[in-house]
Amino acid sequence: MQFENSREFAIQLDKEDKLSGYRDKFIFPKVNGKEVIYFVGNSLGLQPRSAQKYVDEVMKDWAELAVEGHFYAEKSWWDYHERFSEKLARVVGAKPSEVTVMNTLTVNLHLLMVSFYRPEAKRYKIICEEKAFPSDQYMISSQVRFHGYDPKDAIVEIKKRDGENNFRIEDILEKIKEVGDECALVLIGGVNYYTGQVFDMETITKAGHEVGAFVGWDLAHAAGNVELKLSEWNVDFAAWCSYKYMNSGPGNASGCFINEKYHNKKDIPRFEGWWGHNKERRFLMEPEFQPEPNADAWQISNAPILAMAPYLASLQMFDEVGMPALIEKRNRIVAYLEFILHEIDKEVESTFEIITPENQEERATQLSVFLHGEGRELFNYLMEEGVITDWREPNVIRLAPVPFYCSFEDMYQFGQILKKGILNKQKVSN
Ligand SMILES: *Cc1c(COP(=O)(O)O)cnc(C)c1O
Repeated sequence: MQFENSREFAIQLDKEDKLSGYRDKFIFPKVNGKEVIYFVGNSLGLQPRSAQKYVDEVMKDWAELAVEGHFYAEKSWWDYHERFSEKLARVVGAKPSEVTVMNTLTVNLHLLMVSFYRPEAKRYKIICEEKAFPSDQYMISSQVRFHGYDPKDAIVEIKKRDGENNFRIEDILEKIKEVGDECALVLIGGVNYYTGQVFDMETITKAGHEVGAFVGWDLAHAAGNVELKLSEWNVDFAAWCSYKYMNSGPGNASGCFINEKYHNKKDIPRFEGWWGHNKERRFLMEPEFQPEPNADAWQISNAPILAMAPYLASLQMFDEVGMPALIEKRNRIVAYLEFILHEIDKEVESTFEIITPENQEERATQLSVFLHGEGRELFNYLMEEGVITDWREPNVIRLAPVPFYCSFEDMYQFGQILKKGILNKQKVSN
């Protein structure tokens, strides 16, 4: 499709957008009385209007039923977390039995490492990507040290080539082969948080299995953003936070995938608690742990119902719309944003370098843009003008036009504001 950098054209694209009605189902912050242009749904998704109702329902049940709410609330609390499995399984391409919601992301990765990082004499290394999200780096390093290894030896980072912005699949596969039977675990972010690069999870998972390693994925930037087929790809485990593309609210609960081949295993190492116990017998308070026959066996504590309520509200919308429709709009709006950036770049002196892969197969909602010659003041100006982006050192803004609630007109408007900001600065400095 031939795009145009005009408001009329953007409005026409919004008219053709089957998801345009969903914008009103989210609450936008305002700057100077105007709804912001929100590019940071990859950091914290907007609040769905329906979230309040789900929270109010829990507050009311707590007031009116108190402890009886565990069993007699309309959405009873003792099995509240089970309401997520089916819907979430559709989002991540899994069987409902393989999905559960609990704790928070880094905590879950630690817990999953208990089951899936089991270093032995020769096989003890973990392969991850260089400059992984800091929490993942701390998590992996502390796990390795916990088992008595030196991170410098036990952690093998896949590197980018000099002068390149993204990882090459052949380098990843090469590294896995090279580490070979010393590799205990491959654990990578499915979508790189900095560049937005989407990894070929199927191929990497297969390569990890070929050398006899477990393969897990941190899907913080992937869940609700890219097409996932965790069961079909034979992934061993995965976890994701829900407050980014999944719009569940700050710090909210994390989703986990555990391949069904690990269910019903008595001998799997796992940290256990009463919420993972056979649910029919949970309240008999028996001494011996009987795991649930599914991913719920990894549950530990009773669920934080108030926190989980907005996640359920959001998930309801994912279920209505479905990932294919979100991905279709995503591809179009990201392509339009890319077009707008190239158009503006022609009109100003500064040069934008989009460091996210150009190839649609290797990217999703996020475009990371290197703003050569610009500084933090441009970012501050954008904020003042009601464009919420995310700034990363040295000079990168990350833009995620979330298909649920961003409009094509937002993209056009953003281009105009950006152009003005750069031209004004050039005028001042000339
Ligand atoms: C956002 C993000 C996290 C955040 O972890 P929490 O435990 O939810 O604070 C971890 N890893 C990656 C890759 C992320 O993008």
